[in-house]
Amino acid sequence: MVSRTTDDYETLARMGCVAMSEPAFWAGFDRGTVDGFRDYFRQLTEVEPARAAQFGIRHFTWLCINAKEAENVELSREVMAMIPEFLDCDNVLGIGEIGLNKNTPNEATVFQEHLELAVKFDQQILIHTPHLEDKYQGTRMILDMLGDHSGIDPGRVLVDHVEEHTVKEVIDRGYWAGMTLYPVTKCTPARAADIIETIGAERLCVNSAGDWGPSKPTAVPDLIMEMRKRGHAETLIRKVVFDNPREFFSQSKHFDLQEPSTRNA
Ligand SMILES: [Zn+2]
Repeated sequence: MVSRTTDDYETLARMGCVAMSEPAFWAGFDRGTVDGFRDYFRQLTEVEPARAAQFGIRHFTWLCINAKEAENVELSREVMAMIPEFLDCDNVLGIGEIGLNKNTPNEATVFQEHLELAVKFDQQILIHTPHLEDKYQGTRMILDMLGDHSGIDPGRVLVDHVEEHTVKEVIDRGYWAGMTLYPVTKCTPARAADIIETIGAERLCVNSAGDWGPSKPTAVPDLIMEMRKRGHAETLIRKVVFDNPREFFSQSKHFDLQEPSTRNA
């Protein structure tokens, strides 16, 4: 949301959005200093929650240095050392989205050090998997690094941007999986509906890409429409867009969200 307009919050509120989770990510350019990240984390923990609250939306966030900037190991270590300053902020759910971009050794080093940070501070983990030709290999590398770490509870890890060829292994190994919807490229609402029909909805969530590039924050309502069009039950639709994310996020002590229907009761 740091790269979206206030109009997007208003539109999402009108479409029934009651809460959102914003990962720390690449903001369209490489930041040069640890203070640049400190300001970014203030934006995620102070500015965006206040902007969202104007429209009745709860804003939650995750902290890390993303894989695209993790090629700079020295800067990454300075950022990781600074993250604990923000972990007690009341909208922080954990460490993320960490992961791989081009599957390089430096990215892997920074990923593993983030895992250490999460375990040390008892944090949930949100993971970015690479796109396109790097996805299958990168997802395998990530799952292997997670599996090698004895301190990690798979039930507190969500692996995002899964697609047809990666979703099953993520779910089978006990992790949560997220499908990120894009308007045209990558996972579309129709492909996400196909995946739900194929593997079911256990530990499966959907989210919308909403960043500085071509993306669409309202893609989750698009999936809801797609599933209704196919005749799916409202309970199944609700499971992937509300119940599952809430169950996963609720493992963080900072997450509390009442039923939308009882909010004003
Ligand atoms: Zn991502």
